[in-house]
Amino acid sequence: MEKDRQKLYRWFRRHGRDLPWRRTRDPYAILVSEFMLQQTTVTAVVPYFERWMEAFPTLRDLANADESQVMSRWQGLGYYSRARNLHRVAREIEQSHGGRVPRTLPALRSLPGVGEYTAGAVMAFAFDFAGPVVDANIARVLARLADWRHPIDNAKGVQFLRRAAESLLPAKGGRRHTSALMELGARVCLPKAPHCGECPLQESCRAVVPERLPVKRPRRVTEAVQEVRAFVWARGKIWLERSRGPRWLGMWVMPVAKVPERTSVHEEIYPITRFRVTMNVVPEGKMDRTLSGFSPEELPPMPSPHRRAVAALLRKRHNRVHAR
Ligand code: SF4
Repeated sequence: MEKDRQKLYRWFRRHGRDLPWRRTRDPYAILVSEFMLQQTTVTAVVPYFERWMEAFPTLRDLANADESQVMSRWQGLGYYSRARNLHRVAREIEQSHGGRVPRTLPALRSLPGVGEYTAGAVMAFAFDFAGPVVDANIARVLARLADWRHPIDNAKGVQFLRRAAESLLPAKGGRRHTSALMELGARVCLPKAPHCGECPLQESCRAVVPERLPVKRPRRVTEAVQEVRAFVWARGKIWLERSRGPRWLGMWVMPVAKVPERTSVHEEIYPITRFRVTMNVVPEGKMDRTLSGFSPEELPPMPSPHRRAVAALLRKRHNRVHAR
């Protein structure tokens, strides 16, 4: 085991990527990166992380920011509940933990939006704690190393992954260990075509057909959903409402159309969780008291499908007016 670990660490020293959150041990910065990396790729996160750290360099800066500043920095990354939770985490740490990110798994887990994985990752990357951390990349490596041909996403599979991760752990140095395993999954032990010839763990790996692993339970079928929103334009402003959730709770969106039978002037199709949403937009000229008006130059942060639709419709409007 020790020999394998040393091979893995040597490989990581030579091939590990230089990522901004690997250059720091600031627990706040690591917490930010972990929130951003939930459901988003490393490449997409890097520029957002860098801009975020410029805007809110410390946990206190984030705790003192207002919601619209926070949402506007997150705009485009999607899954906006992560931004809201991160903001709440910063405020809670300021109020209940003296402004310092807690150093124990139970205290981290008690924070909003922090699950077992995120808590373990912060313990490893910020505090060098050697505990089992299993993300999708590590799960794939573990399943292949042991040639585990059962689903990894049921209770038995989760237990297997935890035990397998524990069996590889060093006595100390959780930061290097976790980063190296993750990197191996991200760069070598790839989902469709693993580069086994370049793998430092090749000699101990038991996978017979690694491409078929890990096994997962059959997926739920995607459900098609239709919705009709209104592009309300009046008094030189576009009129929006705050989402009442559960999707995009509190964010500015186009209101639900009052007369959905009108001819659609724009269509957006987007996936969200297990749904495939087709959003049609119809024009409406009347605003009511539940709506707030924004000039096209000062639009608030909006979820991507609404932002794209509004931008396209404002462009069309502008072209029409200037063609007259
Ligand atoms: S030998 Fe191949 S399948 Fe096994 S851990 Fe390495 S890359 Fe993955």
